[in-house]
Amino acid sequence: MAEALQLQQQEAAAMQNRIPNNFREPSSAPLRKLSVDLIKTYKHINEVYYAKKKRRAQGTTQGDESGNKKNKVNVHVFNEGYDDANHDYIINPGEKWNDRYEIDSLIGKGSFGQVVKAYDHVDQEQVAIKIIKNKKPFLNQAQIEVKLLELMNRHDAENKYYIVRLKRHFMFRNHLCLVFELLSYNLYDLLRNTNFRGVSLNLTRKFAQQLCTALLFLATPEINIIHCDLKPENILLCNPKRSAIKIVDFGSSCQLGQRIYQYIQSRFYRSPEVLLGIPYDLAIDMWSLGCILVEMHTGEPLFAGSNEFDQMMKIVEVLGVPPRHILDQAQKTRKYFDLMPDGSYAPKKPRDNKKYKPPCSRKLHDIIGAENGGPGGRRSGEAGHTVADYLKFKDLILRMLDFDPKTRISPYYALQHNFFKKTTDESTNTSNSTSTSPAMEQQTASSPSAKPTHAPDIGSGPACFVNGMVSRGQLRPQ
Ligand code: ATP
Repeated sequence: MAEALQLQQQEAAAMQNRIPNNFREPSSAPLRKLSVDLIKTYKHINEVYYAKKKRRAQGTTQGDESGNKKNKVNVHVFNEGYDDANHDYIINPGEKWNDRYEIDSLIGKGSFGQVVKAYDHVDQEQVAIKIIKNKKPFLNQAQIEVKLLELMNRHDAENKYYIVRLKRHFMFRNHLCLVFELLSYNLYDLLRNTNFRGVSLNLTRKFAQQLCTALLFLATPEINIIHCDLKPENILLCNPKRSAIKIVDFGSSCQLGQRIYQYIQSRFYRSPEVLLGIPYDLAIDMWSLGCILVEMHTGEPLFAGSNEFDQMMKIVEVLGVPPRHILDQAQKTRKYFDLMPDGSYAPKKPRDNKKYKPPCSRKLHDIIGAENGGPGGRRSGEAGHTVADYLKFKDLILRMLDFDPKTRISPYYALQHNFFKKTTDESTNTSNSTSTSPAMEQQTASSPSAKPTHAPDIGSGPACFVNGMVSRGQLRPQ
C-alpha cells in the first residue's frame, strides 16, 4: 500500500516536471486564459488576420506584377459567399436590405464587426449600422451590448446623457445588426486634425462636462454600467461643427456585479486597479477620462505604454508608486514592484533596461504647461488659458487620477469642481458660454490668435476626417 502510494507520488512528480512552468500558474493556464479572455483572444486573432490579409494583398499586388500568385486568396466560400474568411459581412455599397436599408459605405471597423452608413427608407434618415461578425462569441457579446444600450436608452428618454441611441436591431444573413443614430467623427480624428497639438481648454472643458454627466448617468443605481473601454476613438461628435458628443461602443461593457473579463480597457487608458488585477468598479472609467482630457488638450496620450509594465512605469513617473495598501492586496504587484525590507515598494528593474524618470518627477503641472502658456507654450496669451484656469484643470485631473478607486473623484463631485465654475473671464467658461459650437467659440474669442473655422477648434491640421472612414493611428493599442 505504502509502496503503491510512493509510486503514485513519483508518477505525479514526474508528470508535474513535464508540465511547462507557465502552465502551473492557474491565472495563466491556457484554458483559463481562453475562457476569461475570450474576446481578447478573438480580438488578437482579428488583428493577426487583418495584418496577414494586408500582407497578402501586398504580396498579391507584387504577384500581379510578376504575373503569378493572383487569385490565390479567398478561394473558400463563407456563409454562402456573404462573408469573408474573418466572419465579416462583405459590404456592397448600393445593396438594399429588407427593402429598407440602403447601404452606403463603410465608416468604421472594429473587433466586433463593421459599421456602415446607410439610408433608412422607412424613417427617411441616415443611420449607422454595426454589423456584428457571424461568430458565436461576438454575437453573444453584442447581445449584451444591445441589452445595455436598451437599458440606458430607456432611462434616458429625453436623450440628455450623451449615450448613443440604438434605434433597433435585427438579424440579416446570420449577422446581428445594430441600427444607431448616425454620428460624426471621433475625438481621435479630431486630435489628428490638430496635428496632435490638442484642442483649447474651453473645448476640453465642454467635452469634460458632457463626459462627467454621462458617467454620472452610468452610475445611477438602476444602470450601474462600467463602459470599460473609454478612449478618444469611442467618443464621437454628433455634428462636425459642434462640440456635442456621445459615447459609443458598449461592446466591452458590463454592469457592476456582472464582470466577466479581467483584461479590459485600452492600454493607454487602463486604470491601475486593472493593471494590478484588483477587482474593479465604475471608477475605472473616471481614470480613463482623466487620461483622455489631458490628451485632448496636449494632443498626446498622457501614458503611452508599449506594454503593461511600461504602462505602469509611465504612470509612476507622473504619479509615483501606488499606495502600499493597494499593492499589498493586488494579485499582480510583483509584475511591477519589488517589496523592500521596510515593507515599501520600489519599481522593478525593467527587463529591457529601459530608463524611466524617478517616480513623481514628470509633473502634470509641466505636461499641461500650467505656468508656461499651455502645452508647448502654444496657448500663451490666449483667452481662457490663464494660470488660474490651468490650476483648476490640473486639480480636477489629479482627482480623476487618484490611485485609490475608493477616493477617486466621483462623477457627481467632478461636476461640482471649480474647473466647471464661472471665472472672472466669464465668456470662456462652458456653464456661462452662449456658444454651442467650437466654431462659434473661436469666432467670438477675443484673442488675436483666434481664427474663424468650420471645424471644431482645431488649429491648422488638414481636414481629413469629415465623412471619412475612421482609422486608428498605427501605434494605438486596442
Ligand atoms: P472596438 O474594436 O473598439 O471594440 P467595435 O467593433 O466595438 O470596436 P465600435 O467602436 O462600436 O466597434 O465602432 C467602430 C467605429 O465605427 C467607431 O470607432 C466609430 O468611428 C464608428 N461608429 C460607431 N458607431 C457609430 C455611429 N453611431 N455613427 C458613426 N460612426 C460610428
